[in-house]
Amino acid sequence: HIVIATPPQQTYDLLPKGNSLCPLIEHIKMEPQWVLLLAVRSSTELKIDSAQHPNIKSISPEHVKRGAKPDDSVQYYQVQAGEEWSQETINWERTRVESYLLSEFEALCEQKIDIIVSHLHRWLYSLPSNTPIDNKENYLTCSEKIHLSGDYLATNQSRHGLECAYLSGISVAKQI
Ligand SMILES: Cc1cc2nc3c(=O)[nH]c(=O)nc-3n(C[C@H](O)[C@H](O)[C@H](O)COP(=O)(O)OP(=O)(O)OC[C@H]3O[C@@H](n4cnc5c(N)ncnc54)[C@H](O)[C@@H]3O)c2cc1C
Repeated sequence: HIVIATPPQQTYDLLPKGNSLCPLIEHIKMEPQWVLLLAVRSSTELKIDSAQHPNIKSISPEHVKRGAKPDDSVQYYQVQAGEEWSQETINWERTRVESYLLSEFEALCEQKIDIIVSHLHRWLYSLPSNTPIDNKENYLTCSEKIHLSGDYLATNQSRHGLECAYLSGISVAKQI
């Protein structure tokens, strides 16, 4: 058995030419996304509402996640830019993107903040798009015993992210 667990674009390139799985994944894409990581000094939880922001998809407080290292005076945030804006700006200078996202983050905070450090990452294969609408199996397989796994094969309207990668991996393992 061979399991390929790369993003769909790379999977397509790794499959033998003409394999029956090629047409099933050729239109699925992982879209690029700018992501800004921030450490902020603050003793109170910041109030940030990014729901209506046109170019920011989400802001996640990382310091509240299970396993995060508690330090009462420092908070960590992950700012994920929106798909469309990331596409449009993917070739911008990093400094330009970083200063835009930083200033938008500051503007969304209700109080003045002290940013200790920031790091920008350009994820080229971040967000699944054009995923199979109803792939109940959460993976793909063919008679040559090549199996495809990944979040993009289990993503739907009600779930995304690691849960999908996990469900897809488990399904392939059971099948083998
Ligand atoms: C910035 C960011 C934050 C996220 N935060 C969360 C979160 O808080 N909660 C959550 O549930 N999900 C989150 N996710 C989503 C989660 O990370 C993914 O859903 C999950 O990692 C997908 O797992 P996967 O195994 O399908 O693919 P991946 O984790 O992307 O693994 C694919 C692997 O294939 C490798 N690869 C690529 N090309 C090749 C090649 N040609 N040959 C060999 N190997 C190759 C890559 O190096 C990578 O290791 C986040 C994603 C991003 C980008």
